[in-house]
Amino acid sequence: MSDVTILKFGGTSVADAAAFTRVVTIVRRHGGPRPVVVVSALAGMTDALFAAAAAAADGDAARARRIVDEQLARHDAVGRALLHGNAALPFQDQLAHARDALTGLFDGLAGQAKERAALEDEIVSYGERLSACLLAAALATAGVPARAVDARRCIITDETHGRAAPLPADTDRRTEAELVPLLDAGLVPVLGGYIAATPGGRTTTLGRGGSDYTAALVGAALAAREIQIWTDVSGVLTADPRVVPGARPIPRLSYAEAAELAYFGAKVLHPKTIEPATARHIPVRICNSLAPDDPGTVVAAEPAVWPGAVKAIAHKTGITVLQIASTRMLGAYGFLRALFEVFDRHRTVVDVVTTSEVSVSLTLEDARALPTIVSELRALGEVSVEPHRAIVCVVGEGLRTTPGIAARIFSTVEDINVSLISQGASRVNLTFVVAEDRVHEAVRRLHAACFEQARAATGSDAIGRTAS
Ligand code: ADP
Ligand code: ASP
Ligand code: MG
Repeated sequence: MSDVTILKFGGTSVADAAAFTRVVTIVRRHGGPRPVVVVSALAGMTDALFAAAAAAADGDAARARRIVDEQLARHDAVGRALLHGNAALPFQDQLAHARDALTGLFDGLAGQAKERAALEDEIVSYGERLSACLLAAALATAGVPARAVDARRCIITDETHGRAAPLPADTDRRTEAELVPLLDAGLVPVLGGYIAATPGGRTTTLGRGGSDYTAALVGAALAAREIQIWTDVSGVLTADPRVVPGARPIPRLSYAEAAELAYFGAKVLHPKTIEPATARHIPVRICNSLAPDDPGTVVAAEPAVWPGAVKAIAHKTGITVLQIASTRMLGAYGFLRALFEVFDRHRTVVDVVTTSEVSVSLTLEDARALPTIVSELRALGEVSVEPHRAIVCVVGEGLRTTPGIAARIFSTVEDINVSLISQGASRVNLTFVVAEDRVHEAVRRLHAACFEQARAATGSDAIGRTAS
């Protein structure tokens, strides 16, 4: 393990000049001897660039340019507030260059539907490229020697534009080669998250919210002592705070717990963030850039089994459930293989699977290939499709050992139609599906039963903390 610390700042942590100033202070105070910074695009920038790309593809280049000009003016305002002397001019040049390059890319987009995903990746990459340049210059101006690094020279992926998969050996090698010399020279490398490149140098992206994943990949490549994810909440909370306003930070999570939460909808972590950290046993700390002294959440190897069982509830909407019934085929050798080959062919991820004697039920988030998938599955059995579903995932290492917990969970939602119940092999999660329009109600009730009522009755809650 090295003495490198990765600090990743999300979009809201770099929304304006005041936020950049907070980031500079955090890097100084929390970065240890060898900090490496990973930064997202300014809040709203990636959405704006996607909207501009869509306008350009529709032939409205004027609207695309307007959107970009508005965003570049925001960057310019931050630059003018923070950068002085030598640092100010180069950043203005970078903004002018970005404007020209984006205008050219919009022209390309109008003509080439086939290349759209690749061009979109190139367009949205300007969000992270500019924020990395701006943050490196802001750090340098504040007396922290820093250097912007093009993340596309470090994170190497396959060619799946929009949700590319990293190539681990290339990424490790290139990240080390790019960053270690800078660290040895006493500089803080600042790289954009989310963006990457194929071995041939074409720009790719890791999927929305992918900067967390970049931080974990860089952390793994450098055997960092810690990966810090700085965001706008004080850690991973017991539920999505937009649905449960009383959700509270969780002090510790095991890797398995955090992975399940991220996978099943806790937006605070990109679903793949935990994997590189687990492989190299690197602790991941989730902290609040607006309240840097809050303890946050530490994700690490020890399974912290608290008295009580449930640590958090995640949920994910926009789910489609497919049911394939076949009295003839189901028990037959090769049936499941044939079934999953259909999803494999269409590169569609299946999240939850359950089987009975006569049917298989499964959930999909990505329904783009649904019509073709359904027609191919019909060769295997009767297929029914239930759109507008949501997954609820209750997580806690204690679920492994606590008797009666499933009964308590399901009695809480007894008047809500629950389907497709599954307990993962890791046994740290209990997952089920409800109709999308009832999911908030289900999550709120579960949260009340697992955290609020238990706390009121006993003075300590289901995750074992004493009421204060
Ligand atoms: P960033 O821009 O820093 O990457 P995100 O918006 O991607 O931030 O993630 C942080 C947000 O995730 C929070 O503001 C919160 O609304 C949402 N969120 C959803 N579920 C959870 C959870 N269980 N714990 C914490 N935050 C959550
Ligand atoms: N800027 C990218 C997005 O908005 C990546 C990230 O913020 O993690 O999805
Ligand atoms: Mg995020």
